Amino acid sequence: ARRKLIAGNWKMNGGRNSISELRGIAEAARAHVAVDVAIALPATLIGLAAEQVPELPIGAQDVHAVDKGPHTGCISAGMIREAGARFSIVGHSERRCDQHETDAEVRAKAEALHRCGLGAILCVGEQLADRDAGRAEAVVTEQLAGSLPADASGEWLSIAYEPIWAIGTGRTPTVEDVAAMHGAIRARLHELIGDAADGVRLLYGGSVTGDNAGELLAAGDVDGALVGGASLTAAKFAPIIAAG
Ligand code: 13P
Repeated sequence: ARRKLIAGNWKMNGGRNSISELRGIAEAARAHVAVDVAIALPATLIGLAAEQVPELPIGAQDVHAVDKGPHTGCISAGMIREAGARFSIVGHSERRCDQHETDAEVRAKAEALHRCGLGAILCVGEQLADRDAGRAEAVVTEQLAGSLPADASGEWLSIAYEPIWAIGTGRTPTVEDVAAMHGAIRARLHELIGDAADGVRLLYGGSVTGDNAGELLAAGDVDGALVGGASLTAAKFAPIIAAG
């Protein structure tokens, strides 16, 4: 059976005074050892958090696809590893939208993480117009096929399904819709990588809270959650960890 993974994504939030929240999150994780807990931080906090809260797996939110060179402002997988990160998110919709990242770029970023021995959480998700037009599963499974890295396996890779219209909005799909999408993702993964698909954790993300985490995490093929706003404080995140 796949262990559940409850991952937080702090996005562009948090500073040195947030370390106490990370300590609280680590404490909640210690109280629920059957669940894996991890937090993706702004790059500025990775080193500090990895030093101050070493028991909590820390990750980045993005990396560059190449290992070094003339890419002003960018950060490589090796750099985040040296800072203490164990994984990174890639292909978050905010980067696909704001930075126009393509499936091919997202795939290359995930492969850069794997070359460095780091984990990856690969995000996919549809726009509201896709859902309304009845093509959500087609869009998401296409995105998955386009951005899935070589050597994909549950050893280092998780997939996060994050419907764009559910992110930061307080709206979530129904539990049935989440289960259907995760089933479609699992089926496509089987076509792409065979039996290795069974080891890959599929996380749901988008307005997950302590109130809805229980039912979302119980849905078919949901192996965890990727949590934005409700991961920023231990008080809000701990109930989601407890639901996992
Ligand atoms: P919210 O939990 O704030 O909706 O964000 C979800 C998300 O984008 C996590 O990566």
